[in-house]
Amino acid sequence: MLGPRSFTAEDVVEIHTHGGGVCAARVIDVCIAGGARLARPGEFTLRAYLNGRMDLSQAESIPELIGARTVAAADSALAGIAGGVGKEVGEIRRECLDILAELDARLDFDEDLPPLDVPGLVHRLEMAKQRVDVAMETSQQGRLLRSGLQIAIVGRPNVGKSSLLNALSGTDRAIVTSLAGTTRDVVEASLVLNGGIPVRLLDTAGVREEVSDEVERIGVERSVNAAHGADIVVMVCDGGRGGGEEGVWGAEDEAIFNQIILRKKNKKEDNDNQNNVDGKHIPSLLVVNKIDLHNNNNNNNNSGTSTLPKHVVQAFSAVVETSASKGTGLEELKQSILKVSGASSIAPGGVSWAVNERQAEALTRAREGLERVVSLAAGGELPVDFWTIDLRSSLISLGEVSGEDVTEEVLDTIFSRFCIGK
Ligand code: GDP
Repeated sequence: MLGPRSFTAEDVVEIHTHGGGVCAARVIDVCIAGGARLARPGEFTLRAYLNGRMDLSQAESIPELIGARTVAAADSALAGIAGGVGKEVGEIRRECLDILAELDARLDFDEDLPPLDVPGLVHRLEMAKQRVDVAMETSQQGRLLRSGLQIAIVGRPNVGKSSLLNALSGTDRAIVTSLAGTTRDVVEASLVLNGGIPVRLLDTAGVREEVSDEVERIGVERSVNAAHGADIVVMVCDGGRGGGEEGVWGAEDEAIFNQIILRKKNKKEDNDNQNNVDGKHIPSLLVVNKIDLHNNNNNNNNSGTSTLPKHVVQAFSAVVETSASKGTGLEELKQSILKVSGASSIAPGGVSWAVNERQAEALTRAREGLERVVSLAAGGELPVDFWTIDLRSSLISLGEVSGEDVTEEVLDTIFSRFCIGK
């Protein structure tokens, strides 16, 4: 394929060989003997970028497309390859360049030009800042589409955690038995929410305060860790016990609640670190499961939820009643998950490009620069050349997104994440 109409815009020879590892390896050996070398990770895309075939944000969307786990994630990556991020940020950058040129002109030939329209300038800078904000808002959506959500299901044994995992994911991943302590390890299942958000469900071993069996002890430890590393914790309690001695919420539930939801390592720490692991708040939902039994056992108006202690209800973002075996309440649970993760604002099917973490970080810096120029300009105190310093730093950050202003080190980091041959 003759350049510039190839992927890298260079002349390219492509060899199609017989299938199978041995055949391909022999062809590669012959090529290497003839003077070729193996490509580095992402080298083809790097060349395409360096030769102006695409901007940096388009290049970054390629591994996102390859690694997409859902159709929505793939669509978002395709929108990125089509140039969405680069185009938008490029336009913001051009506007900032325009403003900079105007400021620079005042520095050079102030006497010959009409006075600077400061309110007009502040307005243009504000608009640019707003566009940066809108681009940054896509970052949470991008993160959800790319990495998805990790949800830990916790609760004492036999409340229906495994059944819930199976009902949500539509699989038989977790073994369901009525023996307490059956799920000894962490069981995983995946599902897709809202047409595009990949979710990993972790069914953790029933967390119990006193665990005698060694294997189960390790399982309990894992579930505490899984809960701490999750994006959302779903705690399950048994809504079918409404008529029983302890009610829906018993001492065992309270112990798990303290250990995982309030994250009190032991009773001495009672008032410390509430809802807080390393300063990170993890949203949690309470599921009152087996609500079918409760309704059978109690032909009164007492819903399973109404017997829950107030401090418990308050600690959760939402309380949802389900019956894993009858399949009720699952849709409400999914909606609550979407809501607490901030994903419900993503329009189903309406996915467009989203900035990645690197781009969001650069945009944050660009925004800070713009904010400083706006406050300086609005205050009108300092000479114009002070304004240009911050504007220039914003321009550098914007250029890092599209790749117009990027160091070799940043390029190395980006392309080293690609696989060989891309
Ligand atoms: P886990 O130990 O918390 O994982 O609980 P399991 O999922 O193994 O369920 C324990 C028992 O409760 C099993 O016999 C399930 O069939 C039963 N179970 C689970 N969910 C429900 C439910 O919503 N309603 C009723 N009636 N039984 C349930």
